[in-house]
Amino acid sequence: MVDKKDDKSAGQKLQDTLCLQNKDLGTIDADLLQKALPYAEDYKLFLRNKTEREIVDYTLPIVKKFGYKEFKLGTRYKPGDKVFYNNRGKNLILVTMGEKPVADGVRISVAHIDSPRLDFKPSPLFEADEMAYFKTHYYGGIKKYQWTAIPLSLHGVLVLNNGKTVKVRLGEEPGEPQFCVTDLLPHLAREQMTKPMNKAIDAEQLNVLVGCWPFKDDKASQKVKLNILDMLFKKYGIIEKDFLSAELCAVPSCKPMDLGFDGSMIIGYGQDDRVCAYSNLMAEIDTKDQEYTTITVFADKEETGSDGNTGMRSTFFRDFLEDFVSVYGAESRHVLQKSVCLSCDVNAAVDPAFPEVFEMNNCSFLNRGPVVSKYTGSRGKYSTNDASAETMGFLRRILDENKIPWQVGELGKVDIGGGGTIASEISVHNLDTVDMGVPVLSMHAPMEVVSKADVYMLYKAISAFYASAYVKD
Ligand code: MN
Ligand code: MN
Repeated sequence: MVDKKDDKSAGQKLQDTLCLQNKDLGTIDADLLQKALPYAEDYKLFLRNKTEREIVDYTLPIVKKFGYKEFKLGTRYKPGDKVFYNNRGKNLILVTMGEKPVADGVRISVAHIDSPRLDFKPSPLFEADEMAYFKTHYYGGIKKYQWTAIPLSLHGVLVLNNGKTVKVRLGEEPGEPQFCVTDLLPHLAREQMTKPMNKAIDAEQLNVLVGCWPFKDDKASQKVKLNILDMLFKKYGIIEKDFLSAELCAVPSCKPMDLGFDGSMIIGYGQDDRVCAYSNLMAEIDTKDQEYTTITVFADKEETGSDGNTGMRSTFFRDFLEDFVSVYGAESRHVLQKSVCLSCDVNAAVDPAFPEVFEMNNCSFLNRGPVVSKYTGSRGKYSTNDASAETMGFLRRILDENKIPWQVGELGKVDIGGGGTIASEISVHNLDTVDMGVPVLSMHAPMEVVSKADVYMLYKAISAFYASAYVKD
């Protein structure tokens, strides 16, 4: 191949030197998709876990296989030691001890493992017109109309009166029944079709159809509901009252699949934010012989504001850190001041079908690599962690020196909408924090879309962050 470099005009050369270059990953490395394929296959297996509990259950045996031991209070861990902490089966904290003392600061990466879904109400089962349904209260920001007329599976746990926990996962395996929320036929939807999209389906219409066959009995009432309860009792040993002490939800039952003729993308449920959680996990497992101790956190309840004892506003993270560092005579507040945190979450990829909501200089594009978001929030930067120039510079240096293509990403045009991430919850610990993730199409829809090369490069980016020996200013 002829080197055309010298054919460049003075202006072109100057452009190369001075101008910000935005190239897609395929142009930078034509073989990258091929390299990303094995990683993408394993990622799709991870995605088959559709609740925070299932992700923790799936991850624990993996990290144990890679030498992670359960955290024991008062233990002095040595460089190279790998530790896990499980908070209520919904959070995981994974640690790889570095060469430097923890008092010098640590590298933290956080991603959330909860996703929008239809949670069941405490008393969900009812019968109407000889059909049985579960009432739901949606979890997270959804466009309600998207959740009708698609196959759903049921996931969760019930705690029985004898203290035993029953796990439910139904509709994921071949031959298992599916469920759905019904919608109105177009023929009778003339009025519904004139409503704004946020009114077309009411939250109380998001009832999951679970059966229509009556229990055989001449005298009993509500026989379809009775038949369902009879089946549930026989299969799981549960009675209707057990729903009162349960966490159950309906999620899309479709498996994650390759998308596009070129198989360059993945379509699947819950990629916000399991795409980042998986990249965090893989980078964490890989980490060895590094200078700084790494701490990888799986968070819950991000989609509903990070509240509760498993959300990032809970003290579980700070408490763990205190327990973990005190044995070295360090204070967690001093460790946090010297640490850097990646708040790993997805961002909105520019969608050519909706150019009006994106500002093309500052929004992220599919296939241009990990997206670094200096800030999120809305309406004049409310409710955001705004990463400092120093923190942005710190991350930029790591990514550039490791030749990891990356892009910036603001969530749409100013004042169009907006949204937040865990960054604003975790940075309150006086911790330098910046958002990084992958661009997603159809975010929060039942099936979301990502580029395999982006997913793979996020893993490379987090790995570089964990391996980096740069001292923070
Ligand atoms: Mn998210
Ligand atoms: Mn989200």
